[in-house]
Amino acid sequence: MRDAGRTLMTADWVVGHVDGHHVLYRQGEVVFENGEIIFVGHGFAGEVARRRDYDLALLAPGFIDLDALSDLDTTILSFDNHPSWRKGRAWPKSYMEAGPYEMYSLDELVFQKRHAFARLIRNGITTALPIASLYYRAWGETYDEFTGAAQAAEELGLRVYLGPAYRTGNPFVVAPDHIELHFDEERGFKGLADAISFCKSFEGKAQGLVRTMLAPDRIETCTAQLLRRTAAAGADLDVPVRLHCAQGEFERDTVRRLHDMTSIEWLASLDFMSERTLLPHGIFVSPSRHIPGPGRDLEMIRDAGAAIVHCPLVSARFGDGLESFTRYRELGLRLGLGTDTSPPDMLLNLQIGLLVCRLADRDVTSCRAEHYFDAATLGGADALGRSDLGRLAPGCRADIVVWDLAGPDIGQVIDPIQTLMISATGRDVRSVVIDGRFVMEERELPGMDFAAEARRAQKQFEGLVSRYPDRTFGHPTVSEIFSAAYPVIPQPE
Ligand SMILES: [Zn+2]
Repeated sequence: MRDAGRTLMTADWVVGHVDGHHVLYRQGEVVFENGEIIFVGHGFAGEVARRRDYDLALLAPGFIDLDALSDLDTTILSFDNHPSWRKGRAWPKSYMEAGPYEMYSLDELVFQKRHAFARLIRNGITTALPIASLYYRAWGETYDEFTGAAQAAEELGLRVYLGPAYRTGNPFVVAPDHIELHFDEERGFKGLADAISFCKSFEGKAQGLVRTMLAPDRIETCTAQLLRRTAAAGADLDVPVRLHCAQGEFERDTVRRLHDMTSIEWLASLDFMSERTLLPHGIFVSPSRHIPGPGRDLEMIRDAGAAIVHCPLVSARFGDGLESFTRYRELGLRLGLGTDTSPPDMLLNLQIGLLVCRLADRDVTSCRAEHYFDAATLGGADALGRSDLGRLAPGCRADIVVWDLAGPDIGQVIDPIQTLMISATGRDVRSVVIDGRFVMEERELPGMDFAAEARRAQKQFEGLVSRYPDRTFGHPTVSEIFSAAYPVIPQPE
């Protein structure tokens, strides 16, 4: 519940917004009422019901996460375990033919969404478009678990765009190093139909905190018909449509083999892209080192008005990244950010993105702190068509993050955004307001025992790991699948 009346927040630094750009107020004030910001600046003259003084802190707009971690992280399984076909990241043929099954119960699926949503809030993310891996599912995500996700978002107070992911195809391992795709068109259409009815039922729920989207999973697991119908439904419902593409080698090679085009060329040929399209990850584009030679992928994305969802952390873990963030920006592409993996620390993503950009450009001046901060706030809002998010200004939603600048580990401050980019982590978020409600105060989420939930998450995850051999090619044991950094010496009996 929101508190009634006006709330005034003050801090040594406040990110305000003037004439389309962020500004920094020293000893600034933010006032909100009924979930809406009514004042940002100095010397508010009106009456307030309460005030919170944060002193050496930064009040900033919450991050918008267009590809928000929403399950128990699974990239931990692949971090030092390759190749993916040998490590259970694609199903063996036997597993698929036996009928893939859900690795988690409905209860566990809903729990992991709720747990992930809490982690997003703890990292200063106030708007989230969840993403989860389908490797561990019988097929797509379900209406029922998203009903639970909507309820969790409402209870925790997280602003979300929800839609169960669906697909037509699934990769499976035929033989060592040989992955093929199995397609089931009807199953894809059924997933789309469920997603559409979810949108119709949940759009605008929880006083507008819950919005909806369409989320076909990965381009190589979609057929032309599924993508055409998705684009039409997205226009009809007027919701964002997110599709993972231009992400990796398997996708690039599969789309080329099946359609003789790059992923982006195929999307353009299907008339899929529009201003409501969100495209994680946008790395395998022409021209780039992954697709040399001529090519106009980036121009096609830009001209269609689609937005790229940039997820620097997960890409860097695979030794990859945009070439480069600055080049994309200067081309006039719409760019938002996504966490996509654990930790769902948007600030860490900004930090790594900036480093990868400077490395790609071999130029220390090619990218500045505010370029990334803008993308994670204004860029995300723009990608969603939400001029009332991503900034602290009168008339905008009160989605506010309090960053601690007083901790002894944070170092010094000349400019608070630069200090965040150098020294802070998501764990330096003190308090979070979403839609005018304090959803976290001094790192406590009301009514939630986060430590107990983390223990439950670990237990649930161990269950998944123990079922892993079943769904791994050749059925090796758990310790053969997952390597250890050092030899593990068990406790004596
Ligand atoms: Zn991704």
